[in-house]
Amino acid sequence: LPTSVGFIGLGAMGRPMVSNLAKKLPRGSKIHVYDVVAAEIEEVCSLFPSIVNKCANAKEVTERSEVVITMLPEGAHVKSVYLGEDTGIFAGLSTSTTPKLLIDSSTIDTATNLYVKSRLATAFPDTSFYDAPVSGGVIGAVNGTIAFFLGCDSTDPNVPNLTSLLQLMGGKVIPCGGPSLGLAAKLSNNYLSGLITIATAEAMDMGMRAGIDARVLASVFGAGTAQNAICDVFNPVPGVCPRAPSSQGYKGGFRVQLMRKDVGLAVDMARRVGSRNVLGATGLGVYAAASDAADCRDLDSRVVFRYLGGKED
Ligand code: NAD
Repeated sequence: LPTSVGFIGLGAMGRPMVSNLAKKLPRGSKIHVYDVVAAEIEEVCSLFPSIVNKCANAKEVTERSEVVITMLPEGAHVKSVYLGEDTGIFAGLSTSTTPKLLIDSSTIDTATNLYVKSRLATAFPDTSFYDAPVSGGVIGAVNGTIAFFLGCDSTDPNVPNLTSLLQLMGGKVIPCGGPSLGLAAKLSNNYLSGLITIATAEAMDMGMRAGIDARVLASVFGAGTAQNAICDVFNPVPGVCPRAPSSQGYKGGFRVQLMRKDVGLAVDMARRVGSRNVLGATGLGVYAAASDAADCRDLDSRVVFRYLGGKED
């Protein structure tokens, strides 16, 4: 395991991922962190003052770390954190003498990932760069059970090192075959889970309005062919899963705007690879409208239950 790990992007996912690293890295290790929001840095540093060290920018994180992990919202943020003049990861690499391992866990488009990778290969050929997006949500990040989808072949020489490090923050680490294919896997996954969320919200509302208790209905789906993780763990109906964002006023979790982004990226990818989908446009329309609705915006994506007029008691 590395003794110095950099982490950039301390949001809903980044904070619990850093907490797990801080608890599980060997004694004496350091975590160098940065976020554009100063309060996010302070919060993480105050939890683990002897392990977590605040940095002024991504350049400083890179200079001080053997491995740098990024957990940012969108491709534009990843591009600016890597390429940002004077303060970005590239600037840090140019003043470093040792090769680095760089891991981007953000869910972004594959084109941005391949662009950063090719720029790195030209400017810093000793550096290794992997896409390693995650699935499992904030609950999985807190519990250390998120899955990582790695953008490389299982025979890649860095897989053992990557797996040991990533398993400090999660469970399964799945090599998906080559550069950017971790992202292609993640976008396919979120296309599916985004549409399952809408279908679960509609089916729950239908059964509830017919007179079935929400918990009974969820246990019916769980026992039958409709069984799915959205129903069992992240049920969109408030009160069914006490720890789910829906039961906390849809606070925390996976913001509806991020789901809109992911379904949009998946639909773009499908078009690019020549895959036909009939549900994508409808799903994207629902998430786009919910992202703009005043009573849904900035809340967990399962708020589509509310957007669709679901019965909330
Ligand atoms: P978030 O918006 O809560 O956190 C992102 C963090 O990045 C914020 O703290 C923000 O201040 C910081 N940031 C933005 N621009 C920056 C910059 N230029 N330099 C430094 N920091 C910057 O988002 P999140 O929910 O943590 O998600 C992060 C990524 O993980 C997204 O791509 C998302 O799609 C993906 N993801 C999220 C979940 C989830 O359940 N929340 C699950 C799986 C994957």
